[in-house]
Amino acid sequence: MIKENLRQIQSTIPNHVTLVAVSKTKPVSDLQEAYDEGQRIFGENHALEMRDKHEVLPNDIQWHFIGHLQTNKIKYIIPFVSLIHSIDSENLLEAVNKEAKKHDRVVDCLLQFHIANEETKFGLNLEEAEALLNSEAFMQMENVRICGVMGMATFTDDETEIHKEFHQLKTIFDALKQNHFAGQPQFKEISMGMSDDYPIAIEEGATLVRVGSKIFGARNYNV
Ligand SMILES: *Cc1c(COP(=O)(O)O)cnc(C)c1O
Repeated sequence: MIKENLRQIQSTIPNHVTLVAVSKTKPVSDLQEAYDEGQRIFGENHALEMRDKHEVLPNDIQWHFIGHLQTNKIKYIIPFVSLIHSIDSENLLEAVNKEAKKHDRVVDCLLQFHIANEETKFGLNLEEAEALLNSEAFMQMENVRICGVMGMATFTDDETEIHKEFHQLKTIFDALKQNHFAGQPQFKEISMGMSDDYPIAIEEGATLVRVGSKIFGARNYNV
């Protein structure tokens, strides 16, 4: 089913949108099946799980970290991670920069924004992001590169609300682009949309969609 699901989703997303296959909790065999169908970008939200999968799967996979990243776990993913979607504080970015420096890498990162109504979702607001980008500390960070923004909409059936939240993220992206990243082509990614809302995210300007259960089936957190 994974291959059919992937084919179906790929056929509905436009060329300028990149599909991140969110494989958290899924066994390596599921990822291999997606790989065999041509999928090369996988998203994970636990550092050790991502490291372990990276060790056994083909090395042309691009690993995207999409979950809340604890500073003490950064070291497990820095040697190979290709994009961190979830930078939500200056401290975290600084810690990523420090670890990346040890590995002589420049690690691509997105700033995560809080766009949902729910209290529980991590993320910055525009003011906090501006403060980070204007900080002396950020100017000194030579081993991270900010490539765009990420956000998660409220878990709701209300499509108007979802449109509004994704539109808000696009507006934040445009403001940052104009005020901080003008003329910097690497600042181009808007990571938004999951299994239930990625078509809306694409309408609102997503460049990266993070789709899990629509590809791999429902997750079971009890195993
Ligand atoms: C799990 C997860 C996804 C994928 O969720 P699905 O609803 O299974 O598509 C996307 N983004 C983040 C940040 C996630 O944690």
